[in-house]
Parts: sequence; C-alpha cells; structure tokens
Amino acid sequence: MKQILLVLSTAIVLVSGAYGNEVQHESTHEVHWNYDENGPANWGKFSETCQIGEAQSPINIIVNETKGIDKSDILKLNESIETKASIADNGHAIQVNIENGGIIRVDGVNYKLVQFHFHGLSEEEIDGAHTDLVAHMVHKSPFGSLLVVAVLFNEGKTAQPMIQTVIENVGKSVEIDPSTLLPFDTEHYYHFMGSLTTPPCTENVKWYVMKEVESASKEQIAALRTFYDHNYRPVQPLNGRVVESK
Ligand SMILES: [Zn+2]
Repeated sequence: MKQILLVLSTAIVLVSGAYGNEVQHESTHEVHWNYDENGPANWGKFSETCQIGEAQSPINIIVNETKGIDKSDILKLNESIETKASIADNGHAIQVNIENGGIIRVDGVNYKLVQFHFHGLSEEEIDGAHTDLVAHMVHKSPFGSLLVVAVLFNEGKTAQPMIQTVIENVGKSVEIDPSTLLPFDTEHYYHFMGSLTTPPCTENVKWYVMKEVESASKEQIAALRTFYDHNYRPVQPLNGRVVESK
C-alpha cells in the first residue's frame, strides 16, 4: 500500500511539474503582434481577418477616383464636450481613453467617442503620400459598431494644442475637450468602409478621413515619435471599394 501511494504521489508531482513548466513557458514566451518581427505581414498569425479580409484599412485614397457622398453617409458632429481622459502608452501607440465622449451621428445612429491614438506617420495615403502624423478618433455605437475619424497632421509652424496636452501628460489623467483635436473645417472628408488597422483587423468599420490637414510643430512630431515612429500598417487593396468625398 505504502509503495502504491509513493508511486501515485510521485506521478502527481511529475504531472503538475510538467504542467507548471508549460504554463510558465507560455506566459514568458507569449508571442505578441508588433511592427517589427511580428509586423503587418505576419498579423495573420494573430487574426486571420488581417490576412484574408477584403475590406481592410488603411487605404490609399486616389482623389480623382472618389465619388460624391451618399446622403446617408453624412456626419453630424457633436464632439464638443469636457471630459476626463487618461493618456496611456498602450504598447503600440499613445492612446487617450475618454470617459464621457461626444457623439457623431450617421444615418440615425449615434457613435460615441471612446479613445483616440496616434500613428508616427499617417497610415492613410492621399494620392500615394503619407502625412507626418495621424490621430484616429475611435467611436462606438450602442450596438458595438465602430466609426473612426482620421485627423491628418503635417509639420508646420504652429503647434497643435491638444497634441501638446497629450505629450505633456502621458501616464496621467486630464480634463480635455476632444473636439479641439479636429480641424477647423469638419465639413469636408473622405468616407469608405474598412477595418481596424491593428489585429484583430475587424471589418465593417466606417472610416472618415478629414480633408483639412492640420499643422503640428516639428518638436511635437518628434516627441510623439520618441514613443512610436513606425507604428503604421501599409495600405491595403481596395478590392472594388469606392471612396466617397464630401
Ligand atoms: Zn489607429
């Protein structure tokens, strides 16, 4: 009897030992997507949609090939609201998480701002050209559908006040008015259907790219790029999608 117990307990130790090692192995060597060795060309490993999706973002917007906007796709912006926000490095971008965001209304559906984040070169191209930075303002409807407003920036003489607030408060919580990130002209934009530009690359995202390119100072662009300077996915095939223009 003693002998059987000894054998049994040895077996349990061996099994739990092996299991323990496996868990440790997985947690210390977990593979995560990034913009380097596990970059955009390999994101299919993390979500199949990134590889086989046919309506992916970002895209190159060829201005001459856009068409007039459908009335049902016109934005009603109501972003001006004072809200608490926490500014964090999410491991891929500097992201501003919004506690109580403003609303964008499209075709009878309200989309509420949940966060905005920055890419160190714009992901979207206009006639084949990037801009120096882009902010993506991510909105969510009560049904969970997503709408992203892209705000483009190029290096210019003037600093952008909201970008300055972000740079000075990474890791902190602040009171902000997210509408101050938007350009003066919010009446003109491109619209298309696309996806999240990071895994899981979920599709059916409504994209709106503001036409007015804002100015950010050289120092601001450099400061944001000290965190991430190549966190942009290359443009994806249109696969027959049409870009609307207003
Ligand atoms: Zn983004």
